[in-house]
Amino acid sequence: MTATESAQQVGLVVVSHSRALARAAVVLAEEMLHGRSLRIEVAAGLDETTLGTDAVSISAAIERADGPGGVVVLMDLGSALLSAELALDLLNDPTARDRVTLSAAPIVEGLVVAAVAAAGGASRAEVAAEARDALMGKAAHLAEPATEVVPEPRPAESIGVFTVENPHGLHARPAARLVSEVRTLDANVQLRNLTTGAGPVPAASLSRVATLAAVRGHQVEVRASGPQAQEAVEHLLTLATRRFDETDDDVTPVRPSPIDRRRAGGPLPASPGIAIGPVRMLTSAPSGPDQENRPPAEPAAEWRRIVEAVASARREIERARVATTREVGASQASIFDAHLSLLSDAEMLADVKKRLSGDTGAVGAWTACLAEVEAEWAGLPDPYLRERAADVRAVAEQVLLALTGRTARRMCASGVLVAEDLTPAETAGLDLDLVTGVVLAQGSATSHAAILARARDIPVVVSAGPDVLDLVEGTTVVIDGSTGALHVDPSPDLVADYQQRAREAAYRDAEQLALAQQPAASRDGREFTVAANLGSVADGRAALLAGADGAGLVRTEFLFLDRVDAPTVEEQAAVYSDIAEAMGGRRVTLRTLDVGGDKPLPYLPMPVEANPFLGQRGIRLSLEHRDLLRDQLAAMCEVAHRFPIDVMFPMLTTPGELIEARQVLTEAAGPGGLPDGLRVGTMIEVPAAALKIEAFLPYVDFVSIGTNDLTQYAMAAERGNGAVAALSDPLDPGVLRLIDHVCRRADGRIDVAVCGEAASDELAVPVLAGLGVHELSVSPAAVPRVKAAVRLLDVARCAAVAAQALELADADDVRKLVLDAFGQDTR
Ligand code: PEP
Ligand code: MG
Repeated sequence: MTATESAQQVGLVVVSHSRALARAAVVLAEEMLHGRSLRIEVAAGLDETTLGTDAVSISAAIERADGPGGVVVLMDLGSALLSAELALDLLNDPTARDRVTLSAAPIVEGLVVAAVAAAGGASRAEVAAEARDALMGKAAHLAEPATEVVPEPRPAESIGVFTVENPHGLHARPAARLVSEVRTLDANVQLRNLTTGAGPVPAASLSRVATLAAVRGHQVEVRASGPQAQEAVEHLLTLATRRFDETDDDVTPVRPSPIDRRRAGGPLPASPGIAIGPVRMLTSAPSGPDQENRPPAEPAAEWRRIVEAVASARREIERARVATTREVGASQASIFDAHLSLLSDAEMLADVKKRLSGDTGAVGAWTACLAEVEAEWAGLPDPYLRERAADVRAVAEQVLLALTGRTARRMCASGVLVAEDLTPAETAGLDLDLVTGVVLAQGSATSHAAILARARDIPVVVSAGPDVLDLVEGTTVVIDGSTGALHVDPSPDLVADYQQRAREAAYRDAEQLALAQQPAASRDGREFTVAANLGSVADGRAALLAGADGAGLVRTEFLFLDRVDAPTVEEQAAVYSDIAEAMGGRRVTLRTLDVGGDKPLPYLPMPVEANPFLGQRGIRLSLEHRDLLRDQLAAMCEVAHRFPIDVMFPMLTTPGELIEARQVLTEAAGPGGLPDGLRVGTMIEVPAAALKIEAFLPYVDFVSIGTNDLTQYAMAAERGNGAVAALSDPLDPGVLRLIDHVCRRADGRIDVAVCGEAASDELAVPVLAGLGVHELSVSPAAVPRVKAAVRLLDVARCAAVAAQALELADADDVRKLVLDAFGQDTR
């Protein structure tokens, strides 16, 4: 303590999801102190860059800030409040909690006035009162003149109804999104399933929301009270129209083959590939004394153990989330959001706490409560929702590990892993040097473990039944993750047969990979560029290894999502430059930000839209936020001085938008003008733009057709909506005619690329080539296969087949035509 700091001075703690935000708020507050000293402690973020709050570090910060004058804690939103409440239970000195006030004040304004008051010697009650009224100055300043009509007071309760549009209903991930949004609002929100009568349940509790069993088409009533009641209802209704931001990847159906669908019982395919090897089980070593069976201590001490175990499990899950984002992508990593949401479910934690008694300790209370939640989820009528009980089991197990001091289950030697089930965190952590395949007694192809295994290329069969758990370690098994075959102690002939199949598949893959570094030319000598679509620097490295001739599309959104502020020019330039470096000097097409109503950014005010796919998306939003666009283009120009870069704009509808975007590019480039070699292109994703392609041609060096969006707009079939998935086929002649039109008008003037999923569809490749497409941009893993497919083409013949395709009625007819014309050649 310094000389200027009084013994009675109140200490402050800033709790925020973002360490950067908390530090910046402290700097601002200290500015107001003019050198006077004050204890301000920060408990923010899980590390420098990972967003989150953690009860253990908040309790440590409170202890550091504590003194005779006590502590006032300021929090940002959502789970910060719950973490701060839990932190009070962790204080070493139980009397300390009486000296702590959790303040409902806004974090920045509240901290500034609280700091001034505390440094001036105000008491804890005075500091807390100052903080609470922190917005009064601002409100008075912005208040309407007294002569103006006084607005109607907002109703105390708001009600609204939404229809669940998610293909799999309100399952764990969309429900977690709903819950996390509700937790940021100052409102008490209850949900009721009007279709079944289930509920009401508190919307801030994931464990309860899941029990609504709301499947696609069900109507859900939102009833909110409190200061932000109306916002809460409006926000949830809008989120529902956006399917709670569930992406196409999240809902990609797992399609078992007709044979699999007929098979009753027995192992099921969950992740393709063949694995042959000895059975390996997971083992977990107890560390230290037996924690599971020890007699319970005082309920307060047992509760403390639970809070610490929950905090430790949260940190583990955050780590798995970060690693998964890095390795396989943000969409798969969102699986962990539901787990984090469960761990900050105040209702559920309160129930656990209630169960603690002289006879029931931490392990008993936790196990009993979570088993009840799991049973409730497992009893839901919808099979997809039912399977999410596995998420509850996973979370329960992870906290139990921390509670009992057991180490996580590990695989210790290489082979085929056999387990009852795997948690998503275990699947994300499997050592690819040891595991060749996985057999699960339980599980399903739609489980989160299966989704992660597919993303990591690990062959998996699921639902193999409890008997597999009795297999002796070292027993040889053969699995085929594409068919669900599982053979125990296979005969030498069978092993030889599978080895042969695995060899053939590996040989084909290796052959395609070996040739992938060569340019791909058709049989009749037409060269094609086969480029890669990237969403991270890691994708760039994978694309280079896979033989990509360049990056045909860098989805730069990954840099902008999941953060509280926009990336700076320097940050962006560093990442673009890393990508260009990873691509080893090949041309890289950087697409400007393509977010909008369907993918909102917290730092961009966006209008509420009933039809976000028809709203402020892509270039429309960027032109509304020119500073953001200018910064992004400045970063791209900076990198273009050192690497071959293309700039590409998404979702253009009129040439006017392109002219404006080019003006911003010129401003961003600065007085030196556009870097040499920088090419400018546009995506063609809107049917109107395809039909008037000529109006765009004077302003571009290339065009890239985004068949994902072009198809959804041409077919009026929302991408990712399972109910219209059959319509959403880029091989529909209506879509092909748009592509044909673009290719004909561009012919001889500029190159046409395709960067939607159609570019890696083996039946679409001959048609696109026949229509005159020059470049196919596909996922990095698909590059060798697409290059191999190109080498089988005879473009003149493809042109004849494509011309016929344009005259057909629908995509099924086109697919039949291509199969008849090229048969096995397309595979
Ligand atoms: C497309 O629409 O085809 C495309 C490649 O863009 P995105 O999938 O990123 O919308
Ligand atoms: Mg698109």
